[in-house]
Amino acid sequence: MPLDDVFLLLQSWLDRLVRRLRLGRPPASGHRRLLIVQIDGLSRGVLERALRERRMPFLGRLLQHGGLRLVPMSVGLPSSTPAFQMAAMYGVRPDIPGFHYHDKRRRADVYFPRAGDAAWVEAQHADGRRGIVAGGSTYGCVFTGGAANNLFSFAMLKRPSGAGLAQALSAIVVMLWVIVKSVVVSAIVIDRALLGFVADPVNAPRGWKLLAIKVGVSVWVRHLFTLSASRDLYNGAPAVYVNYLDYDVVSHAYGPYDRRALRALRSVDRSIHQLCRTVRRVPEHAYDVYVLSDHGQAHCTPFDRLTGGRRLERVLFEDFLNPGGAHEVGPMRPEGRKVAAGIKAIRTGRAPGLVQRFMNYLENDFPWLLGELKEAREQGGVRVICAGPNAFVYFLDVAEPLEIDAVDVRFPGMAEGLSRTRGVGFVLARSADGPLCIWRGKRYRLNELGDGPFAGRADLALVSQGIEDLMAMPSAGDLVLYGLEAPVGNVSYISEIGAHAGPTEDEMHTFVAAPAHVEFPERITHPIELYPRFARYQEVA
Ligand SMILES: [Zn+2]
Repeated sequence: MPLDDVFLLLQSWLDRLVRRLRLGRPPASGHRRLLIVQIDGLSRGVLERALRERRMPFLGRLLQHGGLRLVPMSVGLPSSTPAFQMAAMYGVRPDIPGFHYHDKRRRADVYFPRAGDAAWVEAQHADGRRGIVAGGSTYGCVFTGGAANNLFSFAMLKRPSGAGLAQALSAIVVMLWVIVKSVVVSAIVIDRALLGFVADPVNAPRGWKLLAIKVGVSVWVRHLFTLSASRDLYNGAPAVYVNYLDYDVVSHAYGPYDRRALRALRSVDRSIHQLCRTVRRVPEHAYDVYVLSDHGQAHCTPFDRLTGGRRLERVLFEDFLNPGGAHEVGPMRPEGRKVAAGIKAIRTGRAPGLVQRFMNYLENDFPWLLGELKEAREQGGVRVICAGPNAFVYFLDVAEPLEIDAVDVRFPGMAEGLSRTRGVGFVLARSADGPLCIWRGKRYRLNELGDGPFAGRADLALVSQGIEDLMAMPSAGDLVLYGLEAPVGNVSYISEIGAHAGPTEDEMHTFVAAPAHVEFPERITHPIELYPRFARYQEVA
């Protein structure tokens, strides 16, 4: 018996003891339970390659003869974790246009890593609906899905609803083992890496970044999630949703097909193996195991590499939204001596080299010193947010979304100009006749997408539906820019090599591996279709 399981058994005895002391109640029996394992960021294309190359031998065996069936899934737009999980967990069409966006009516940004934002979005959307994880646990998810135990979710980082003291105590055994195991594994990983750095000092800086990811996400977090989820399975929690972030994180740093990202899949495969072993040990709890992915990634070039360090926010304000500004204030002109004007000059890129470099550094790494969130900037009633391969432009004087005619009045020709900018793939806008896609200077309606921006796509109907859904979200920008399939290739507006939120095939097409004995559709065309399948486990409970 692997050592992990010895600790889990020990913990489960402790748990039973706690229950006997009438501090908790035994799990109800007689119905099936739900285990969802999400492999964040894994497209069907990369999954198929990983299976071919035997990088996920356990999942491969499950699919071949272990009772899991691979169902193609298209995740819609944006191809991003919060939108996916909101649709799957609550069965609602989300108003979540990206990982970072602005809510004009509330006059506030939503930025998921910031404490409290996810909880607010979840409360707004759930609106009394029962989540698919009610009474269970979520690990590594953006939202709780109604889980009682969600200690490790984004949404509850600030205000964990956590379990009671008794439960916390029984979790300590698992926690202690995770610590012991992770310390040992980290030491081995770090030791090996150090040997590598000595041998290859030139590549050491990049190596440090990978090492930090490896030890942080892939050792500590993955072990913590796997063991905590195993503990829930032993205890018969009605639903458990585990999200493994390893692949997504490495893929953002190096690209979706990079060998380091593919290598991360092997550890995830081992964790799936461990969870399935636990499920087999407790047949009385009757768990159905689903393995799925929320979106894929596209290989991108960061925008500022195309522009010599000018970020998209700056290009937008200097070249499109305030092109005359350069003549109003400048450090060389008398009125430019005012502090405010001086800062404006520095921030719009007209200060001497060293100062400018320092400001660029502040802007990138400490944006709150300048009163901003990273990748957001506001000037003259216009707010720009870069969220990934997508960016939003909001005109703040009107609380409701603006149609393209109103944008044209404010900035004639801007939408077309943007669509011809180096590093821009296409621009989306709203019109009285529905959404528009502006591509290489020309406007296309949804039924014309096949003539231009998405010519040759076999899944054209899904792309068009995705754009319609995205532009129906009140929080999507008045203009939505995408860097995907720009003339120079895929581009992201933040500094990352792997990116997602858009409609490229790799981003949109993923999979659900569903139990063969469960009735399940042949194909899923939007995560909202998952909700009734998963909610069924709640109804019997
Ligand atoms: Zn991601």
